[in-house]
Amino acid sequence: MTLAPERALERAAEAGIHCLRIPTPFAVGRVNCYLIEDGPLTLVDTGPNSGKALDELQAQLAAHGHSIDDIELVILTHQHIDHLGLVEIVVGHSGAEVAALGLAAERLANFGEDADREDEFAVELMLRNGIPSEVAFALQSVSRSFRGWGARAEVTRPLADGEEIGFRDRTLQTLHRPGHSPSDTVFWDEERRILIAADHLIAHISSNPLITRPLDGSEQRTQALVTYIESLKETREMPAEIVLSGHGEPVVDHVALIDDRLAKHQRRKEKIYRLIEERPRSGYEIAQEIWGNVAVTQAFLTLSEVIGHVDLLVNEGRVTETDDGQVVRFEAPR
Ligand SMILES: [Zn+2]
Repeated sequence: MTLAPERALERAAEAGIHCLRIPTPFAVGRVNCYLIEDGPLTLVDTGPNSGKALDELQAQLAAHGHSIDDIELVILTHQHIDHLGLVEIVVGHSGAEVAALGLAAERLANFGEDADREDEFAVELMLRNGIPSEVAFALQSVSRSFRGWGARAEVTRPLADGEEIGFRDRTLQTLHRPGHSPSDTVFWDEERRILIAADHLIAHISSNPLITRPLDGSEQRTQALVTYIESLKETREMPAEIVLSGHGEPVVDHVALIDDRLAKHQRRKEKIYRLIEERPRSGYEIAQEIWGNVAVTQAFLTLSEVIGHVDLLVNEGRVTETDDGQVVRFEAPR
């Protein structure tokens, strides 16, 4: 028996987990943070670094009888700024501990510098895959203009994959589920069968497996979609009843949703294979075949989608990469 999504939030609230919907300036809309009323009093994600987000966070905490000053632990689900931008301010007010995947701690601590390197990496990747330079550089300025909504985070409690976080009334197991970002971490309450999954699984949108640098900061890119599919398969096997997402409504039937997403990736992979089979194409040409001329801000997302699916085909031995020194093209050997 699956729950109705509204009922799922009530069930979570009965378990002391309250969804706080914090505004962001991004197309995705509000971000879901979660207040866990337990010892320590815990906030999972903070929302972006803006006065508006801070006001709403204060107001929504107040509605539950708390203030920012009372927060004892902040848990971060991943490295994206819509989820963690307010962390410095929350910690400044409360002195809360900050728990996050230990593998991500260095990057979170070096936010500004790291974001610059990530942007340079993205520009390089776009140019190598045939995206016109004016688009690549325009996107770099867009990304820079968003920088202020982020912040650095000093992780005082580095978490390992599998590590349990003990509370007065519950235990949450830390599970590394990379793909949407390399630091995606989900938190599993086995007793209540509630999974706090953030952007790893979202009901109304399929999470973008963005191509990034790996967590160790090296320049070799991730195979984000390949990794994401492996992570989804692991989550599929969990006996979760409620999955609390980073955006939108809770997921109440994660197996059906994951099956649907896996089938969609399978179909898209075959569609991209047919385009490559016709003739060798660059990542940009494939993206244009599928989505046409997209807005500048979508250029990296669509390229990430294409490269992710091409990675699957390369791993299956059906597609190879050729490099003329400027642009990478994909072809299907016969
Ligand atoms: Zn995210």
